[in-house]
Amino acid sequence: MRHIVFYSSGISSYCAARRTVEQHGKENTLLLFADTGIEDADNYRFLFQSAESLGCELVTVRNTKDSTVFENWQSHGAIANNRMPFCSFDMKHKPCRDWLKGHGREDDVYVVGISWDEVHRLAAIEKGWAPNRVWAPLTEPPYLDKSGTLNEALSVGLEPPRLYKHGFSHSNCGGGCVRAGQAHWRHLLKTLPDVFAKWEKEEREMQQYLGRDDVAILTRQVNGKKIPFPLAELRKEVENDGQLDLLDWGGCGCFSIQE
Ligand code: SF4
Repeated sequence: MRHIVFYSSGISSYCAARRTVEQHGKENTLLLFADTGIEDADNYRFLFQSAESLGCELVTVRNTKDSTVFENWQSHGAIANNRMPFCSFDMKHKPCRDWLKGHGREDDVYVVGISWDEVHRLAAIEKGWAPNRVWAPLTEPPYLDKSGTLNEALSVGLEPPRLYKHGFSHSNCGGGCVRAGQAHWRHLLKTLPDVFAKWEKEEREMQQYLGRDDVAILTRQVNGKKIPFPLAELRKEVENDGQLDLLDWGGCGCFSIQE
């Protein structure tokens, strides 16, 4: 029976793939990577090195219309955000689904890298991929925390993607994510200012293209009302030691979002 791992180029899906290979063999394990076009360069390095180390076939799929998350915003005429993370479906789910329509088998098992502390996401993921079975090896013992997952790669001489070293909890989309919160964006600005500047520029250009300044990735609460909070304004708050919600890390769960 073939196992298809939704392979993100991050550490969790690597560990899930590793358990799959250990239990079912590399010849029965295929890594399916959906390229958002804006992954960190070091993620692509890890993607190829880890696939080689696991000895599995690696298949890369892409959205046929938009080559990056930012082009995807233009196609929608909107900036994606936590309330409407359409990039997750268009750049990750749909390319995988399209590939599986042509190459999938009825008895394929889909493997996801969610962890034991994200098990609440599993039911929705299973429902979304039914009738195929979904397996989440990292929800089973031995349970690993983040350093445990990083050590799995290091133990076979694989350097994990650099974003973890910079303190990011995930390594998706170059360190940014439309579902990230204020604290995450502040961290991105402080650790990878060039990446932050790119997202800031893309957001500003979309606002100009739409002729609207009331749309943004983030929101914030002012006088009990939620209002858009563009990255340019977040930058000013950081530079002026202004007010931010430092508990708002947000979260990315691309493969737990369903259609
Ligand atoms: S990681 Fe975030 S920004 Fe990237 S595709 Fe998924 S939801 Fe969109």
